[in-house]
Amino acid sequence: MKLFDLSGRVAIVTGGNGGIGLGIAQGLVECGASVVVSGRNAEKSAAAAEQLNRTRAGAAIAIECDVTVPEQVTALVSRTVDQLGGLHIMVNNAGIGIRRRPEEYTLDEYHQLMNTNMTSIFLCCQAAYFPMRDAGGGKIINIGSMASFLGHPYGPIYAASKGAVVQWSRSIAVAWAEQNIQVNCILPGWIDTELTQSARKYRTDLEARVNMRTPAGRWGTPYDLAGLACFLAAPASDYVTGTAIPVDGGYSISMP
Ligand code: NDP
Repeated sequence: MKLFDLSGRVAIVTGGNGGIGLGIAQGLVECGASVVVSGRNAEKSAAAAEQLNRTRAGAAIAIECDVTVPEQVTALVSRTVDQLGGLHIMVNNAGIGIRRRPEEYTLDEYHQLMNTNMTSIFLCCQAAYFPMRDAGGGKIINIGSMASFLGHPYGPIYAASKGAVVQWSRSIAVAWAEQNIQVNCILPGWIDTELTQSARKYRTDLEARVNMRTPAGRWGTPYDLAGLACFLAAPASDYVTGTAIPVDGGYSISMP
């Protein structure tokens, strides 16, 4: 098997209909995988699949799923297995941000953040485990954040949810190593997407501050995440598990 070849592999990308998820889906398609792009907005998902199919005809389909609803997550995985013949790569990318100072959050916002960013990953990993185990292995890629390990004064609950993603991932990486399932996290830095466009409205100096602190001197693009995702999805990473790797232009290793 070639190191970076994903031909014959089936991937799900949650939140794959835009932003970072679509950047990752694009990379997986380019490496030969069949990809299910999933999100709540069916129209947006269909458009994303169409875009991916322009790279390789028949490479992508769209399946609607709200990752906070257990029955929808189970259905996403079983429909993928039924329609594409298996599930080898699960990219748990769907996520939201609610920016507040710690004293301002409501309990409802707390639950919204934890459900979308962490509980969904628990549900998706559990659902993906069984087809992966039965197929003799698989790759799970969970999307964390710089906030998985940095303090975030304007997003403490977001940070708590993303910190939990890393610890959950390490734990299942250990538990499921015996089943030949590798589990790793990607920690994006500041990436230009809808999510961070709203953050830049909240803090008007954010754009410039990120550029100044990032050694690469620019914000990331969704496609900047594709390379690491393909590595973590491919045979090249078969001995890599339980890691959390930044893709941040050097943001996390530079002095502010
Ligand atoms: P976007 O807001 O651009 O995209 C979010 C995606 O998640 C959409 O495709 C959306 O689709 C989907 N989504 C949201 N809620 C749900 C849900 N309940 N069920 C299913 N899908 C859902 O965000 P980004 O691309 O920026 O973020 C992607 C991931 O990367 C997130 O986990 C985010 O926390 C993380 N991240 C982003 C950073 C950045 O700088 N952009 C930095 C660090 C981490 P739909 O609306 O159709 O459901």
